[in-house]
Formats: sequence, structure tokens, C-alpha cells
Amino acid sequence: MKSHYRVVVIGGGIVGTSVLYHLAKLGWTDIALIERAELTAGSTWHAAAGFHSINDDPNIAALQAYTIRLYKEIEAESGQSVGMHMPGGYSIATTPARWEWLQGECSVYQTLGIEAHLATPEQIVADCPIVDPHGLLGGMFDPHEGAVDPHGTTHAFAISARKRGADVILRNRVLALTQMPDGHWRLDTQHGPVVAEHVVNAGGLWARRVGRMAGINLPLTPMQHHYLVTEDLPELLARPDEMPCVTDLEGFTYLQQERKGVLLGVYERDPRHWKTEGADWDYGMDLIPEEIDRISPELAIGFSRFPSLERAGIRRWVNGAFTFTPDGNPLVGPVPGLSNYWVACGCMSGFSQGGAIGLVLSNWIAQNDPGYDIFGMDVARYGAFAANDQYLRDTTAQFYKRRFVIAYPNEELPAGRPLKTTPSYDAQQAAGARFGVVWGMESPQFYAPGEPAFHDEPTLHRSAAHRFIAQEVDATRKAAGLIDTGVYARYEVSGPGAEGWLDQLLANTLPPVGRLRLAPMLSPGGKLMGDLTVTRLAPERFWLVGSYYLQEWHLRWFRDHLPPSGVTLENLSESWLGFSLSGPRSREILARLTREDVSDAALPFLGCRQIDVGMTTAIVARLSLTGELGYEINVPAPQQRALWRALLEAGTDFDLRPVGMRAQDSLRLEKGYGIWSCEFSASNTPAQSGLDRFVAFDKGNFVGREAALAERETGPAERLVLLAVDSPTADAGGYEPIHLDGRRVGYVTSGAYGHHVGMSLALGYVERAIADQPQPLTVDVIGQARPARILPAPPYDPTGRLLRL
Ligand SMILES: Cc1cc2nc3c(=O)[nH]c(=O)nc-3n(C[C@H](O)[C@H](O)[C@H](O)COP(=O)(O)OP(=O)(O)OC[C@H]3O[C@@H](n4cnc5c(N)ncnc54)[C@H](O)[C@@H]3O)c2cc1C
Repeated sequence: MKSHYRVVVIGGGIVGTSVLYHLAKLGWTDIALIERAELTAGSTWHAAAGFHSINDDPNIAALQAYTIRLYKEIEAESGQSVGMHMPGGYSIATTPARWEWLQGECSVYQTLGIEAHLATPEQIVADCPIVDPHGLLGGMFDPHEGAVDPHGTTHAFAISARKRGADVILRNRVLALTQMPDGHWRLDTQHGPVVAEHVVNAGGLWARRVGRMAGINLPLTPMQHHYLVTEDLPELLARPDEMPCVTDLEGFTYLQQERKGVLLGVYERDPRHWKTEGADWDYGMDLIPEEIDRISPELAIGFSRFPSLERAGIRRWVNGAFTFTPDGNPLVGPVPGLSNYWVACGCMSGFSQGGAIGLVLSNWIAQNDPGYDIFGMDVARYGAFAANDQYLRDTTAQFYKRRFVIAYPNEELPAGRPLKTTPSYDAQQAAGARFGVVWGMESPQFYAPGEPAFHDEPTLHRSAAHRFIAQEVDATRKAAGLIDTGVYARYEVSGPGAEGWLDQLLANTLPPVGRLRLAPMLSPGGKLMGDLTVTRLAPERFWLVGSYYLQEWHLRWFRDHLPPSGVTLENLSESWLGFSLSGPRSREILARLTREDVSDAALPFLGCRQIDVGMTTAIVARLSLTGELGYEINVPAPQQRALWRALLEAGTDFDLRPVGMRAQDSLRLEKGYGIWSCEFSASNTPAQSGLDRFVAFDKGNFVGREAALAERETGPAERLVLLAVDSPTADAGGYEPIHLDGRRVGYVTSGAYGHHVGMSLALGYVERAIADQPQPLTVDVIGQARPARILPAPPYDPTGRLLRL
């Protein structure tokens, strides 16, 4: 071990060795991995080590495909077998709901580049003779499913990294971390101190403890997981090839061939955490005693679906632990608020994702850019609230037991709720609100007034709440609607350097005092980093408004770009709340509550003023996401309840109605407005998404200008379009493929029923030539091709006249 390294990776599991290998591949040789015991000594050694390319996040799915492709490469480079076998795998459906869902998923996977296809019960049983066909309705086959040898794969990464100049130091626990004044880290280890410019926490089962060494609490926790391996089965002894893997989604089990027997793993509905703070330091590759009684309900289903298992001897039981985060995706990247401290942990699918984590993290360390849109695994997608012990236990248990359960678009899950509520929460509940959750914050999705027993049954089709959403849309279009903006993030930027800093950070010009503007924020590579609105409250005092759940992500970006002095950045997201009041009667309602002039002349479209609204002192900005005349009224959080009451009282005479987020989706799609995480993301560019109309190319330098100019020269490969879809009972949700004469030419980013215009709408990206010369298309909705056409203009108020009334 040397005394200094550029990077030290803590942890020699599948993830840490992959990070080391990828750094070495980028030409970094002054790097080391320090491992407490032997390589694989955490979760890795006893993993079932199955892999697949399927993931609901297309960016993660693509990275999983990369991981699988890498296995052959590291085997060749290291000379170490990774023991890879890839017979493919079936996900099987045994209920009509699951079969319908699988058909939808299968078509979405086309968008994600996964070559899955549907299969009949006969095909499944012919391929997998141990499957009992009773009640089997069909399945989906993923050709990229298989397993590796966890020991061989981990060593293949380590050997390849060593060959490229990296050090691998075993039997040496990192005891403490101290950041030095120059930002480098001193690691105290059992074999003495070592200094590293960067440290990577790839501590797996101990990652939370390694986080605590740097004063952070990471939202991950280990949970138990069982599998059993059988003796040889006659059906498998008889065949020369390997049987595909089988996941029985309704049965909570997965199965893969192991030698001439099978491995059966269980995601039980009564899961258990294990050492929530992390494994003991002296953990010695021991198994946890099996808890067969606890998993017996799922085993019973497994044995009835695979009857020959009941007759087979059990060669071994494994009850081991690996880590989970609330959404089941890993934690990757630079930890907000800490310099040179990186994480690559919380990974429950090391053999589907380990290679990808190494790739993006090494890019990030070496080039200051992960190279892919990996928000779905970014450690900055969580706030401190997610590491709370009870929150973490509840949400990870929910994730574990729902691992194979259908996620419905209209379903709101209960774990970790209610955590954050606005002061109007109880009043909204009394008004019939049904809440969803955004980053821990309760947010009304729709109101079912006077129907306390109403339950929105989970469905892939338009749900029973459709009628309430129709009423909310109607009220907003004809009178006024009130939407809670508690799920907006608000930041204040002030000080003598505020204007100069924002001018080079944002791609649009800054507004004059009392005005606001839409302002895309770009990465140096020209990808979107935000779709903010910037408001100028005073010459050197600005507000930025964005998405609530992006707070840590945006704050990390802002802080990385802040000058050493002259600019003060304050996060107001928890201290300011508000409502969006919109609709043709909204000005009259506002006028009732203030002595100020709110006429168009005094408060024009995209204007902003501080005025009294009822008893509250509000910052009122004139804009709306509904396409109507509207106002975003922001108040200090303790005054939000008073604002709710005042607006509803004043609005009674004007038929004002509280409106939820689902109606907002319908309203915004009627106007063709995109939002972050659907139409806009770090995968997209201004020209692709149409946000280039808010880019001031000629204003002088700003982050991402060169790349945006280059894209303007060549034009984007695809463009965002609004589609009308002929779909009678369901709407597109996201990632469904768009076809032209059977050829995939694009994909949906979001969809909803346009209640006012009476059509199913979807936004999506299509090849540029098709956007320029629209032709009849189809959009898959729950796996069924539906006729669709590109709309030349939004179907509601295409000129935007109503916004400017
Ligand atoms: C029963 C079971 C079945 C599984 N099945 C699958 C499967 O089919 N497919 C799949 O993809 N995944 C599966 N997994 C999960 C998989 O094992 C994990 O995703 C993966 O191993 C995580 O790897 P890691 O490198 O992040 O962590 P770990 O393997 O836990 O490695 C962390 C390493 O860090 C070291 N370390 C920690 N702290 C320190 C310190 N202070 N100083 C030095 N070293 C330190 C540890 O000794 C350890 O070696 C399974 C896991 C189990 C237990």
C-alpha cells in the first residue's frame, strides 16, 4: 500500500471491483481498492448472481445491458472465468391482470431496447418442463437473462484492474475517514494511514457505517433474502441444454437452473431487515439461519408451480443479506455537500448493475460527468428525510414485498406516509383530497368531494377517479381551479454577484425587475439540467422555481458552480408554499382579496409582484401550467392555511374548485406543455424538447452554449410532438413505442385524457423527419397498437390568447 492515491475504493465486492476496473480502464493507475477481508466478503459471495436487462427506467435498462455485455470482455482480459450462462428467462402470468400488464410491459421494453417477446403457455412449458401449466396464461421472454459465478466475476474485475496498474489491498479494514483542509481524505486503516484525493464508498453491507465515517447517513439498509438449491431433477438430467430462468410474478419466486438442479429464490410478503446499521465488522461470510416458516406461504406457491421441487432433495439453503434503498435502485455519485466523497452502494442487483455503476462513477470522477442520465440511481435523488430509521424500514419493506407486484399508474403506496404535509393538509382532506407523495410531501392528486368511501381501484385503464378529474378540468376551463404548489422547489439567489452568476448558469436572458422567464439550465455537453422559472424580485434578488424532488440534485449543481463570494443561495422549498390559481375567473377572485391593482396592465403575463392576498403577504407571479389566465401565489409556509381559506371563500361566488395533479396533467397536455422527468430530463437537449425557444444563443457565454449552438447547426435527431391517440379506455403513460407502418419511430413521454378537448393525448419524441412531415402513426397503449396522429398545434387555445387576457 502506498501512502497516497488519487482514488481509494473502499470495498471489494462486485461493485467496488467494477469501479476500480473502470477507473483503470480510463487510464488512472494511481488508484487502490481496500478490502476489509477477502474479495466478495460481503453480499457478493453468496448471491444467486442472476442478471437480466429489464428495468422500468430506460436509462438503467440500457446500463444493465452494458453490464451483461461486459462479462465476456472482462473474462477475456483477466483470463478468469466468470461462469456466465444466459439461457434467457420467462416472466409468467397466471392472472388476467398480470397478462394484460405483461403485454404492456413487453411493448414498452421495445422502447428500452430490450428484445423481449410474448410467449404462449405451450411455448413456456415446452422450454421449461418443470412448470405446471395450470392457470398459466402466457409469459414474456427476455433473452438476456442468466447468471454468473459471483466469485469468478468479482475476481475478473480485480485481476483486470491490477493488470492495468491498480492496487488491490486485502485484509485491511478502513477504520476512519478525515477530510483534510485541501479536500483530500485521510483514511486510517488497520495497516496505517493513507491519503486519497477521492474516496469511493463501495462498502455494500457496511456502506451505512462507511457513510457515518464521513458524517452522512445514507438511505440504505440490509434485508434478508432466501434461496434454496435442489438436488438434480430428472427433467433437467434428461436435457443437454440449459432451461431458461422462470419468474413467477404472482408466486413471488424466481428460479434458475443450477447444475442439473434449480435455484429457487423468494421475495416473501413478510420480509425482515438485518443489522439495519450495517453488518458487524467481524462478519465472516456466515449465513443467517433459515426462517422457513416465515417464507413457507411463498414456498408453497413455488412448489405448486414447480411440482418436481417438492420431490427433490434440497442441496443447500441460503439466507443472506443485501442492501435496499426505498426505490430499490442503487446510490451512486458525489454526495451533496461533501467534496471528493463518492458512493457506489445500496445495490440490490449487483450482477445486473455492477458493471454500469463502475462505468458511470468512473466517468464522473475522471470527467466530472457520468456520461449518461442516471438520475434513477443518483444519490442526490433523496433528501435527508429518506435516511430516517423508520422511514427507511417502512419503505424498503414495502419495496421488498412488492418486488414482483404490479405497479399501477393510479396507485398510491402507503409506506413512509404521511411524512411532510402542508398546513392545509387536513382541510384538503376534508374537501375530499386523495393524496400522492412527492419526495415525502403529500400532494392532492384529485378531490372526491362528499364521497368519503370512494376508492380509486388500481387499474391500467382510466380509473374510477376519471369523473372527478373531468369535473376539475371543467371547473378550471370555465371558472377557476386551485392547485397546491407545495411540490415546487423555490431558491433565492441574492448578493452583488447574483445577476452575473445566474446569467452564465442559465441559458435564457434574465428578466427585468418584476418579471419572470422560463430558463433552461444546461450541462457543458448541452443536455438539460433544469427547466426553471427565474423571477427577478430586485436588481440582485432572484427566485428560481423548479421541481420539489430535484432539490438535492439542483443544489449540488448550484453549489458546484457557485463563485467563492458575492452570491448567497438559499433553499426556500420548505419555508415557502403556495397555490396556483387559474381559470377565466381567477383575476376576479384575486381582486377580491387585495387592494392592489391586478389588472393586466398592472400585473401582466409573466409579471410578478409582492402584494397582500387576504391576510397573507404573497409573492404573486402571473403564469399557469393549465393554459388559463392564472397566478402562482407564494406565501411563507405558516400562512399557507390562511391563503387556502381566503381563496376558497373568495372563490365561492366564482365556482372555484380545488384541483389535483391528475387534472393538471390533463390540462397541460391539452396545451402540449412538457414537464421535468417526462418530456425534459438530463437525456434531452433544448432543440429536441423545444426548449431552445427559451435559449438566448446570442446573449454571450453560458454553461452549455457551445454544445447547444452545435446542435442548432445540425438539428436534433428527434423532436417532441403532441399526439392525439385513438384509445377508448386507456391512455399512454410513458415509454410506449410509436410506430410508422410497423417501424418504431419514437416513444411516448407522458399521456393523459384531455377532458376538455375530449381526446386521449400523448407527448413523445419521434424522428425529426416524421415530426416535420406528420403521417398516420400508432401508439401502443397497454400493448395494443392504437391509431395516432401528430397534432400541428395544441388542441386548446393554440395561440395562447387566454394566458394573456
Ligand atoms: C442471498 C442473496 C441472493 C442474491 N441474488 C442476487 C441475484 O440473483 N442477482 C443480483 O444481481 N444480485 C443478487 N444479490 C445481491 C448482490 O449480492 C449484491 O447486489 C451485490 O453483492 C452488492 O455488491 P457490493 O459490492 O455493493 O457489496 P458487498 O458484496 O457487500 O461488498 C462490500 C465489501 O466492502 C467491504 N468493506 C466494507 N466496509 C469496509 C471497510 N471499512 N474497509 C474495507 N472494506 C470494507 C466488505 O468486506 C465487502 O467485501 C443477492 C444477494 C444475496 C445475499
